[in-house]
Formats: sequence, C-alpha cells, structure tokens
Amino acid sequence: MKRTVWTRKHLLGIADLEVAEIEMILDSADSFLEVARRPIKKVPTLRGRTLLGLFFEPSTRTSSSFEIAAKRMSADWVNFSSASSSIKKGETLLDTAKNLEAMAPDLIVVRHALAGVPDMLAAELSCGVINAGDGAREHPTQALLDAFTIRQRKGKIQGLDIAIIGDVEHSRVARSDVALLTKMGARVTLAGPRSMMPPDAEALGAEVCYSIEEAVRDKDVVMMLRIQLERQSRKVFPSVKEYFEFFALTRDRLAKAKEDVIILHPGPMNRGVEIASDVADGPYSVILHQVANGVAVRMAVMYLLDGARGERA
Ligand code: ASP
Repeated sequence: MKRTVWTRKHLLGIADLEVAEIEMILDSADSFLEVARRPIKKVPTLRGRTLLGLFFEPSTRTSSSFEIAAKRMSADWVNFSSASSSIKKGETLLDTAKNLEAMAPDLIVVRHALAGVPDMLAAELSCGVINAGDGAREHPTQALLDAFTIRQRKGKIQGLDIAIIGDVEHSRVARSDVALLTKMGARVTLAGPRSMMPPDAEALGAEVCYSIEEAVRDKDVVMMLRIQLERQSRKVFPSVKEYFEFFALTRDRLAKAKEDVIILHPGPMNRGVEIASDVADGPYSVILHQVANGVAVRMAVMYLLDGARGERA
C-alpha cells in the first residue's frame, strides 16, 4: 500500500528513506514543476517560514536551487557564508549553529566537508535539517533530482541499466544515487579507474567494472562524475590527458549504449576531462534538465518536511 503521510523532520540521507517516501518526493516534485512556467513564479506554501542555508563548501547549483525553491514557495531564505562568518574567529560549528538556531529558523540546509555534520546538527537542534552534501557520504537531493529526471525521461526507474562512471571513491553523489536507484529497482554499474573505486564498492549494491567501454554497453542511463580533487590526498591518475583517453565519455564510447540512452552529470562538469564537449551538449544529454528539475525536487522536500511539523516521527 502506498504511504500517504510524510512524518520525517529531517532529510539526512537516502539510506534512511523507504521507497514510498522517495515516491512521495518525486510525485510532489511533479506537481511543483509547473510553478517555473507561471508568469508569476510563486506559491504561498511556505509563507512565514525562515530557511537558513549553511554552506561550508563551495556550491553553485545546490545553494541557488534551494534558495530559488524556498523563494518560489514564499519562504524567507537567509544564506550564511562561512567565508565571512565567526567560524574564522574560532567559534565552533555547533556554537555557530546554536546561535543561528536562536533566531528561530524553521529549516536549516547544510553542506559540509565532514561526513556526519548534518546528522550532528539534527541531533542538537530543534529545527529540521536537510543534508546538501556531507563529505563523500551523501547528497540526497542530488540523487532525488537524478531519479526524478530519469523517471521523467524514461517513464520508470525499475529495471533500467544505469552506469555511474568516474571518481566513485570520493563521490557523495554516487553513494546517494546507488542507494536510491537500487532501492527503486534499477541495476547500477559503478565504473572508473581502480584508484578511484572504494574497496567496498560492491557492498553498495552495484556491479563494479574498470572499463568504460564495458560499463557503457547497453545502458539506458550513463552518469558521469567529476574528479573530486579537493577530497584526494594522493595522486590517483597520471594526467588529465590520460584520464580523458581512458575514462572520458566520448561519442565513440557512447555509441555502445542503448539508442535512447540519456546522459547525466551532477555538475560542475570538467569538459575535456570526464566528458567530451560534444557529448555534454549533444542530443542525449539531460544535464540542464537535471538542474531545472532540482528546483522542483527541493520545493517538494521542503514542503514535505514542513508539513510534518504537526506529526513528527
Ligand atoms: N555538485 C556535486 C557535489 O556537491 C558533485 C561535484 O561537486 O562534483 O557533490
């Protein structure tokens, strides 16, 4: 039976979510999609709510997508910039968060380089917390918008063959995506150089392969990942030229996928490194659709979390 009531106060990771909850988010996002096409792009859903963005790591798409989503629902959005904050003066993260909480936000959206920070804030603060990316652990709203885009383009997720290729070891996107897509019944293959594959890759529930040609063969969906230089403590590939030669998605390689393959990338994209420009801009790419869908998905997440205020689990 389909679950019909959302009771969760926080969105910390895909690992916690049931399939019915994922479907609720995707279905709600479907109904928010049309707000972007209205002449006045605003609904009153979150009027009077204060939402706080705490981004301790750089972000282009995620922070602006959350901000636009909040504003489209008439919430007040306040962005905290760690670069100009008192963290630079020695204040702890928890003190900063408690001080910000004293100003009574309804939801905090947090991104941090350390895995587990959103969970820690959720345990300490009384408001709801959304994980906007924690270290290499989870990026749940990215996985939700990826799933939304796949479902929108393919009509389903169940039974699809999906390859996720690149720097899997350092990618929170790959972890959240494997968790979500396998829960929804897709078959996922993780591929990349051995030096970028975590030792527990198979335990994530995916097949693992080390050849991009093999990974792409007969796939319905190919998702490329950026090399996460900021999370690497050692050199994991000899040169960009060699990486492109052996692991980039090029037109020739793409020809091995299914005829109606779609290509995803969470961004930021490094053209000429993990993906060739003509593929990124080509007819199979749905990369900018992912970005557009991200706003509707984040509207859905904030709407559902806010709605659970009366029935928190
Ligand atoms: N934007 C995604 C993230 O924050 C992917 C990336 O940075 O490569 O994890």
